[in-house]
Amino acid sequence: MQFKDLGLSPNLLSAISDAGYDTPTPIQAGAIPIALTGRDVLGIAQTGTGKTASFTLPMIERLSRGRARARMPRSLILAPTRELAAQVAENFETYTKNHKMNMALLIGGVSFEPQKRILDQGADVLIATPGRLIDHFERGGLLLTGVEILVIDEADRMLDMGFIPDIERILKLLPPRRQTLFFSATMPAEIQRLVNTFLKDPERVEVTRPAQTAETITQYILKTADNQPKTKREALRAAINRDGVKNGIIFCNRKRDVDIVARSLQRHGFSAAPIHGDLDQSQRTKTLAEFKSGELRLLVASDVAARGLDIPAVSHVFNVDIPRNADDYVHRIGRTGRAGMKGESVTLVTPEDKKALAAVSKLIGGEPKTLELDGIEAAKADAPEKAATSGDEKPKSRRGGRKPKVAKDEATAEPKAEAHKAEAPVEVSAEKPKSSRRRSRTDTEDNAPAVRGFGDHVPEFLLRSAL
Ligand code: AMP
Repeated sequence: MQFKDLGLSPNLLSAISDAGYDTPTPIQAGAIPIALTGRDVLGIAQTGTGKTASFTLPMIERLSRGRARARMPRSLILAPTRELAAQVAENFETYTKNHKMNMALLIGGVSFEPQKRILDQGADVLIATPGRLIDHFERGGLLLTGVEILVIDEADRMLDMGFIPDIERILKLLPPRRQTLFFSATMPAEIQRLVNTFLKDPERVEVTRPAQTAETITQYILKTADNQPKTKREALRAAINRDGVKNGIIFCNRKRDVDIVARSLQRHGFSAAPIHGDLDQSQRTKTLAEFKSGELRLLVASDVAARGLDIPAVSHVFNVDIPRNADDYVHRIGRTGRAGMKGESVTLVTPEDKKALAAVSKLIGGEPKTLELDGIEAAKADAPEKAATSGDEKPKSRRGGRKPKVAKDEATAEPKAEAHKAEAPVEVSAEKPKSSRRRSRTDTEDNAPAVRGFGDHVPEFLLRSAL
């Protein structure tokens, strides 16, 4: 099947072709023809399946006829996070290049006035996070009675983040005669209830990740001698310096550590930057763009900040801390091994992490392989990080060619030159971000409610690729 078989117009097909695509993904092939007829769609698909274009393309087609009126957007897309909303907006920009279409983005961190102006002129497409939309609505800048198409993206994450009351409120402001395209990776009872209440006879389109992903993730654990931050950072550097690490996302459990790890990596000469909720929007957007373009090699993130980000082609995922919630492990490693590319995950495991490792192993159906790297000792009583003052002190162990003893199929890449720097111990106290100075109560992703991940639904591909 090709895009031209889906009933899309030549203008749109040419934009799709310019974006480099000719074959629709399964969710696109399933959802687009139904959405084009005006029927409701219940799409069950995760990020990475091409689900965004499965609603943006039919929307553009349907909205290409007719004009928007002032303050009355013709379509509304609700997304749980700013980043996801921004990605949807990018998608529209890509595919509307041959159309005249007004799009407004209502998210925190984007200035209010220009967005209000677009709304005043008449927006064909309004993309918003629920809170920001309600803000605008309450200020009277917006009427939702002209919405012909509603999209709810990542509904289960909306649930995780406590947005369902907002969604229900928004849904009641919309005209009953509209098309609803509803997307969720999983279908917990609360989401099913929403679907039953607010969708009309939806066609269900369900996809799993492409099968080839299954065989493409190799999971490792790297045991460290202790749980000291320095020990872990050294192990992390050794893991990054292995052959074949093109780029990667590095996960920390605590937001505070995201900054510390990013700073430490920078000091050691790595191309690394943090992404978390305390950074302002423009900084996050910039970091993400640099990572996508390849300018930035390592993105250090917390679970909440990374959730839903569209980051194609990541060769590696590193877990500085094994996640407290085993579901998060599944989410994290799902960032690599996409679209048929090979991917690896390396999770640092300290002697204190036995319980968390057992939880992860139970969820994925077995313990990941143990990675052994020169210079990184597991469970040695005391493994002080040698405070080398010159990079020459440990020429071999600092070099990029640390080969895992268990990985036989490593690509032979050039050793990385960037980590030859001398040890530069990171002083935690000097690097504390503003937010953590104030707070000692909790170290988890502070502003975000607990996120549930896949819950009972662990994608097949992960179960199969666990060992
Ligand atoms: P999504 O699931 O919408 O976040 O999309 C995941 C990635 O797949 C994005 O980087 C898209 O650019 C890419 N993508 C979308 N549609 C296609 C397609 N038909 N063929 C190949 N890649 C696609």
